[in-house]
Amino acid sequence: MAFGFQIRLPWGDPRTPRRAAVPATIDVDGRAWPLTVVRHHKARRYVLRMTDAGGLRLTVPRRASVEAGLRFVRTQGVWITREHTRRQTHATTKAAGAAVMFRGVETPMATVRAIAADELPPRCLELAALHGQTVRRVSIRNQRSRWGSCSSTGTIALNWRLVLMPAFVSDYIMLHELMHMRQPNHSRAFWREVAIVCPDWREAERWLKTHGRELL
Ligand SMILES: [Zn+2]
Repeated sequence: MAFGFQIRLPWGDPRTPRRAAVPATIDVDGRAWPLTVVRHHKARRYVLRMTDAGGLRLTVPRRASVEAGLRFVRTQGVWITREHTRRQTHATTKAAGAAVMFRGVETPMATVRAIAADELPPRCLELAALHGQTVRRVSIRNQRSRWGSCSSTGTIALNWRLVLMPAFVSDYIMLHELMHMRQPNHSRAFWREVAIVCPDWREAERWLKTHGRELL
């Protein structure tokens, strides 16, 4: 996300090219920040951004003065501190999100996805065989908006998060997709098929309504 602080400042004198030495760091409110200054011929104002590395990047319009830009940066202590804190909080949250609770143990996300790739396809093929459905391939996906899908060519895609659900719920999702191979819609005929192979489908749907979002 582009998040910058923009302000209009008077332009420098175009007749005197500025060759000011640009410092590698700038002191703002008693703290030294790594600084990059770039000149951009299309920039119409000074733009201050924080880089992913945690430094400051000042864009200076063509012919505008670097010194005025540096003065501007020194007035932005409040924004710099706030932006720095925001980014740190975000990084911490992201790192915490890289682990999930899996069968009672905090587990790295990558491990859980590997477990999903190991466990879900055989179970799906087992259910398919049980109900006389032919499946060509089961793939594991990282989807944010769906638990599963099926294609007319006999491929079923399952969200790896199914391994985070109770077994009766993940079974229901697989059976739901398998029945779509017979009925590619949500007609009454489709739900009749689902009810035959998965009598507790309503309970599974309720679980998904209540807890599904927590997993995404
Ligand atoms: Zn469906």
